[in-house]
Amino acid sequence: MELITSFFRFFLIFFAIRTVLNILFKVKLGKKQKIEADIDTVQSFSKVEEKEKEVAIDMVFDTICETYVPKPKAYQVVEDDRTHYFCSWECRQKYIESI
Ligand SMILES: [Zn+2]
Repeated sequence: MELITSFFRFFLIFFAIRTVLNILFKVKLGKKQKIEADIDTVQSFSKVEEKEKEVAIDMVFDTICETYVPKPKAYQVVEDDRTHYFCSWECRQKYIESI
């Protein structure tokens, strides 16, 4: 009788451990999936950032003070079908005077 009891206890412990391990494994798997999902989110975020950068990084060079200026903010001078960009009206004027 004692043998059966200890045998039964052994099985109980075995199943208990198995259940715990199963739960742990599922939690781990869930976490892993979550991390993968996070990586996907980060990647798609960085893709969006790259796209935004591509739009934002439309920089033009100001040859007067040798700096880069965002194209939408730049002052322009068209000379011989070439557009020159400047950071400020002053730089634009300097360029025009230097022509
Ligand atoms: Zn300038």
